[in-house]
Amino acid sequence: MQYAISYRRLSDKDQSNSLDTQQREIQSYCQRNDLILKHTFTDNGTSAFTFDRPEWIKLEKYLKDNKEVSFLVIYHIDRFSRATLLDALLKLREIEERLKVKVLSVTDSIKQDSNELSTQLNRIMQLMFSNNEYNRIKQRVTDGIYQSLSNGRYCTKAPIGYLNAKLSKDEIRTNKNAPLIIIDKTKAPLIKEVFSLYNSGVNIQDIKKLLPKLNLKGNSAIQRILSNHLYAGIIKVPAYKNNPAFEVDGIHKPIITKLEYYQAYNKINQKKASIQPTDEVWLRGILHCTCGRKLTAGNSKGKLGKMYWYYKCNTHKEVNLPATKLHKEFLQILDALSFDENEMKSIESILEQKIKEHQSNRGGNIMQLNLEKQKIEQKIKNVNEKFLLTEGIDKSVFESTITELKLQQSQIDVSLIKAKTDTDTLVVLMKNLLPKLNKISSVFYEFPLHRKQQLIKSLLPSPIWYNNIYATPKVNKLFEHKALILNEKRLLKIEQPPFDFDGFPLSTPIGSITQLELLEDLYMAFSA
Ligand SMILES: [Zn+2]
Repeated sequence: MQYAISYRRLSDKDQSNSLDTQQREIQSYCQRNDLILKHTFTDNGTSAFTFDRPEWIKLEKYLKDNKEVSFLVIYHIDRFSRATLLDALLKLREIEERLKVKVLSVTDSIKQDSNELSTQLNRIMQLMFSNNEYNRIKQRVTDGIYQSLSNGRYCTKAPIGYLNAKLSKDEIRTNKNAPLIIIDKTKAPLIKEVFSLYNSGVNIQDIKKLLPKLNLKGNSAIQRILSNHLYAGIIKVPAYKNNPAFEVDGIHKPIITKLEYYQAYNKINQKKASIQPTDEVWLRGILHCTCGRKLTAGNSKGKLGKMYWYYKCNTHKEVNLPATKLHKEFLQILDALSFDENEMKSIESILEQKIKEHQSNRGGNIMQLNLEKQKIEQKIKNVNEKFLLTEGIDKSVFESTITELKLQQSQIDVSLIKAKTDTDTLVVLMKNLLPKLNKISSVFYEFPLHRKQQLIKSLLPSPIWYNNIYATPKVNKLFEHKALILNEKRLLKIEQPPFDFDGFPLSTPIGSITQLELLEDLYMAFSA
């Protein structure tokens, strides 16, 4: 819960927005945004041309004394001040930067970032015009923006990775198919890299360090990039004048695929529960407790100042597994999974066989995937219609259903690309991959953290837990014949988990997963 205070002012000249109206709007705004309104300050009939108002002075003192308050909500910026533009802007900045309190009017989004140009321009507009004038102008602008968005034409400030197209007003009006944002050739590849790193498990702090050229300010910048659907060519048109919200494909060029976007979207939303791994404990976020909870890690200093790491369960305090031991045993699993010369030869011939099968099943697979694609598109349509026609469906339930379906849709797209892959490419993949299977632990050892985790997920694609020995329900199909040896060597048990488990969200794409897809996934996991 976050705390807010509010400020109301009734000017002596303009009595159009009564104190009651202001109060009602402010209260409903706080309710909508989960803000607890702690106090309301009211100046009745005083001029707005100076900040020397009795209640205003009390308000500033209150903010200084009550650091838990992080929002100041007002009806409209003109309630805040009609002083000179400069004075008002300076006062706003003082409150936001010195007192760390965000100033919001009841039409602002709570997520609005005061450092953004659009917010600043908006405020200047609000301060320059009175409420009524402002609303009229805004209406005109909003109608235009709505029209443009509905046609898939993004028309406001280009986000990083794009540039605003330099078109004259005439060109904008006459050529409705000309996108208003174009790819920024220097920044766009970096944006793509942000998504690819994040989806492969690199944490946000590291992404920032890895991509200094993006020159981002603030910690939320990467998060903002990751949640921007525009990069995938998606335009979200908000609900407006009785029209419900909807999505369209933009006419601008996407930087990333929809799959990349939805993967990141899902990851961000699961983020709260996820656990960040580090180099010292690379099984964190992968290894489960027997209760099903993902293990976290902790450390303690030994006699010579050396750091000792342990895997722990937040529920079961008695679980305290030394990382050195677990890592050593895990590398033994990797060695046992590695192929010897003979196995390499036989796996090579199996794969060659599979590649032939791929070639002959290609047509059928593509057809089946196309069918699945149609089915899912129909489902999306149905869910959308149902949401529009039935009252009382929870919006968040609707959104998560749609996102899930769209994720499936983009996975089918990826499977389609894979199904269409030609034989030569697969042979090259295979020749590159096989030598690496000879001593997996040494390949693994050289990998940076996120690649280590990726490789583990590819080899052991379901939850792994530790109960005196490692256990998991299944290994990657290419290594299935090794499962027995692993079991005999008491390195890895293949068994059903003792906890409920509904699958890694992205490990098994629905539909026909072929050995070749496994080969490709594996290849991705191995190649640097
Ligand atoms: Zn536990």
